[in-house]
Order: sequence, then C-alpha cells, then structure tokens
Amino acid sequence: MTRVYQRVALIGLGLIAGSMALAMRRNGLAGEVTGYARSAATRDTARRIGLVDRVCDSVAEAVAGADLVVLCVPVGAMGAVAAEIAPYLAPGATVSDVGSVKGSVMAEVGPLLRADVHFVPGHPLAGTEHSGPESGFATLFINRWCILTPDAGADRAAVDRLAALWRGMGANVSEMDADHHDLVLAVTSHTPHLIAYTMVGVADDLARVTDSEVIKYSAAGFRDFTRIAASDPTMWRDVFLTNKDATLEILGRFTEELFVLQRAIRSGDGAYLFDYFTRTRAIRRGIIEAGQDTAAPDFGRTGKV
Ligand code: NAP
Repeated sequence: MTRVYQRVALIGLGLIAGSMALAMRRNGLAGEVTGYARSAATRDTARRIGLVDRVCDSVAEAVAGADLVVLCVPVGAMGAVAAEIAPYLAPGATVSDVGSVKGSVMAEVGPLLRADVHFVPGHPLAGTEHSGPESGFATLFINRWCILTPDAGADRAAVDRLAALWRGMGANVSEMDADHHDLVLAVTSHTPHLIAYTMVGVADDLARVTDSEVIKYSAAGFRDFTRIAASDPTMWRDVFLTNKDATLEILGRFTEELFVLQRAIRSGDGAYLFDYFTRTRAIRRGIIEAGQDTAAPDFGRTGKV
C-alpha cells in the first residue's frame, strides 16, 4: 500500500493507538511512527514490544516534524494534551483524535491550535474491553467505520488524506457533523454501555442474596453485559461527562420504552411483546447483513471485537 504520511505521532499509547501503529506498519502507511504516553511504565512497555518505531520521552520530541498527530487519550484529557503539544506542531501538520465523543473535543482542542495547523477530529467505531499498550492489534479497524467530523471550514486535502489513512487501515470512512455523531453514538454505544453497567450492578447486588449463582449460571445475555461493563472506567466516565445531553435524551426515551414493556408484561400482553421482539430481531439481522457483526454464537466474541 502507498505511504500516506511521512511521520505520524501518536499521543497516548493504549488500545487504539497501539492498533493504529500496528495497522500502519502492516500496511506501510507511514514513513515513521513515533509515540508518547504520560507514564514511564507505558513507554517502557511500548518500547519492549516495539509498538511504534520510536517511543519518545517528551511530547515535544514525539510531535517534532510530524505531518499527522493523533490524540489517543481519554476524551476528558484531550484539551490538556492539545495544549501540551500545540507549541511543537509543524506548520501544515494535521491534528486528529480518536475520542468517542466529538462535540467536546472540537470545542476544547480546536481553539488551541494555530491557524497553520489542520484539525480533523475522528472516531473509529472499533474497540474491545481491553486497554493499554499490549491490547492493540493490527486488524482492529478492518470493516469498521471511522467517522470524521471536520468543521465546515476544514481543509479538504487534509480531510481526504486522513480518510486515506483510515481506509489504508481497513476502515470505511464517513463524515458527519460532531453533534450528529454524538447523538448517533449515544444510541448505538453510550446508552447501551450505561445499561450494561446498570444490569451488571443489579446482578452484583443480587449475587449477594443468591450466593454467587448469578456468576455460576451466567447465561449469554448477562455474559455479554459483563463484557461491555468491563470496559475502561476512565474512558467511559469521560464519555458520559462529555456526551451528557445526548445520553440523557436517549436514556429518557429508553425509560419510557421500558415502562411500556413493563406494562405489557404486567398485563400479559403477549401480542405486544411478540411484535416488539420481532421488530428488534429484524434490527439485529440488519446489523449482520451490514457486516458489522457475526451471527456466530456469542457473536463470535472471544475477547476481540
Ligand atoms: P487506553 O488503552 O486506556 O489508553 C489510554 C492512553 O491515554 C494511555 O496511554 C494513557 O497513558 C493515556 N492517558 C490516560 N489518561 C491521560 C491523561 N489524563 N493525560 C494524558 N494521557 C492520558 O485507551 P483507548 O481504549 O486506546 O482509548 C483512547 C481513546 O480512544 C479514548 O478517547 C476513547 O474514547 C477512544 N476510543 C476507545 C475505544 C475502545 O473501545 N477502547 C473505541 C473507540 C475510541 P498511560 O498509559 O501512561 O496512563
């Protein structure tokens, strides 16, 4: 594959940065990939496993001469990290990110960047419940969506070049407005995560009265919830704090819907429940047909999504 950037700097060296580094190397997309993480322990691990071409001990060193800098830290840390890198950015460089929420990143990072730097926020819809530099893998983004949310005045060539990088890593790329992204993700990812956290919390409470039978006999539905609820607490805390409005809007709708189903169960309205579950089954089929999941038992998830 053709090289898209001469030098890419990854700030934060966890699951997403690690997967990007491995995917770029595998597909020859960057001349050199540098990396920086705030803790010496993460930098040491990244060095030991050869995650990037050069692990740097300062952001200044990592960012120097990079034509693409990608912020791969929790959403709540994006502003502070952008302020740290801003003085060292090369003129004409593109700054992007992989944060799960886009409105807050645009609001916090955009104003910190000089006019001669392009800002093209992004979000790969791919991940696992694992985190840290050793959790990345080169195929994470294959056939997954990456959503770019440049603002209306963004440089077209810079957006297209970043899109080419994501396509090179196997992703499908689409563009949308940041607020729209946050609403869509509140439905497809953020609220479902909150529901999983809640259900696992309820089961945990119950486990105390059922003498751990909840764990022992855990069935597919609950096991899927526990996998989601095992996701990184920092990342998810930040998602809810920064995508507050959209998540609360969807949670409100969810609660209304739940009450309707609750009433159908209480009144024995089997026809209503049957119709409802028939509709939801069709949605599942649509996801499989769109190639965004597998029909295999356990959804084919043996650790890596
Ligand atoms: P991760 O594996 O936990 O790695 C996070 C990295 O960010 C680590 O290198 C960590 O440094 C650094 N970091 C954490 N807090 C920081 C702070 N306050 N200041 C500076 N650096 C900090 O996380 P990830 O899963 O790769 O997620 C990174 C981003 O991708 C997040 O914005 C997340 O929303 C987004 N994302 C995640 C997924 C997913 O499923 N995991 C999917 C799509 C997008 P140390 O190791 O030195 O602590």
